[in-house]
Amino acid sequence: MKFARPAVPLPASRPTILPALAVLILCVHSPLAAQSTGPAPQPSPLQVAITFDDLPAHGPLPPGEFRPEPIRSILKTLKAEQLPPVYGFVNGFRVAEYPYQAELLQEWIASGNALGSHTWSHPALDTASAKKYIANIAENEPLLKKVDPHGDWHWFRYPYLEEGNTLDKREAVRNYLFAHHYKIAEVTLDFGDYMWNDAYARCAIRDDETAIASLHDSYLATADEYITYSRTLSQRLYGRDIPYVLLLHVGAFDARMLPDLIALLRRRGFQFVTLAQAESDPAYSIDPKIAYPGGGLLMELTASAHKVNTPDATEPEAELNRMCR
Ligand SMILES: [Zn+2]
Repeated sequence: MKFARPAVPLPASRPTILPALAVLILCVHSPLAAQSTGPAPQPSPLQVAITFDDLPAHGPLPPGEFRPEPIRSILKTLKAEQLPPVYGFVNGFRVAEYPYQAELLQEWIASGNALGSHTWSHPALDTASAKKYIANIAENEPLLKKVDPHGDWHWFRYPYLEEGNTLDKREAVRNYLFAHHYKIAEVTLDFGDYMWNDAYARCAIRDDETAIASLHDSYLATADEYITYSRTLSQRLYGRDIPYVLLLHVGAFDARMLPDLIALLRRRGFQFVTLAQAESDPAYSIDPKIAYPGGGLLMELTASAHKVNTPDATEPEAELNRMCR
């Protein structure tokens, strides 16, 4: 997907919808179905692990809302919905700026959820050197050790999902991560949720309830569309639904929408699993070994490596950027 990344050119333009016959052929040949060892697990019903990025603070807030509120609201929803432990990926520099925000990380842990690393200051690997990027990962560790001394925080989420715009960088960072016992928290479902937070803050300043209702509807409609996008791509690559890992952010609109998003996922047949459960699927251990400027879903990198077309999907960014200006 293009929208979820910063303004960096993608390796190839989004392919158009394939003719039905070509899709059928791709499905039959599912290029990676044979790479799994043993019988492929068949999650039934569908499975998804929800994850949140940019703890403890993401995006602008609407008037009258304070920084702790989105995270506290998210934690309340996760508890009410009885979700299994959810990973939140931390940028420590926020806590260095606002030390009280360490409390939010502690609340996340205290409510039974888990923390991982999202680098110290959210650099883009496309524009950073591998050396600086690795130092930025290491810089985040003292905070994680301090707030979560007994937790399994050695899960790493790449900012912007950029795993390396050159193979050398990709390999250097992966080698560091594995040598330091990190697992990579790959993403396989993403609808650009973060883009609604800015529009929501603007529309809330205007107290424009009609616009906010429209944001509510477009958030869910886009999530639904990208569920289909990921499921279609999974079928093309693996001939089955893998357990998905959904990327969300701890923004104000994400917090407001979480109950409805969880309801949508349940209506579409999903059960909720942990990140470790989802990523234990063999699909997550196939390394596409490609340079991929701009970042993307693991399945998009894999599709690019195997010359499989990605499905068509709408990109709501321009419309969201126009709202409430
Ligand atoms: Zn991030």
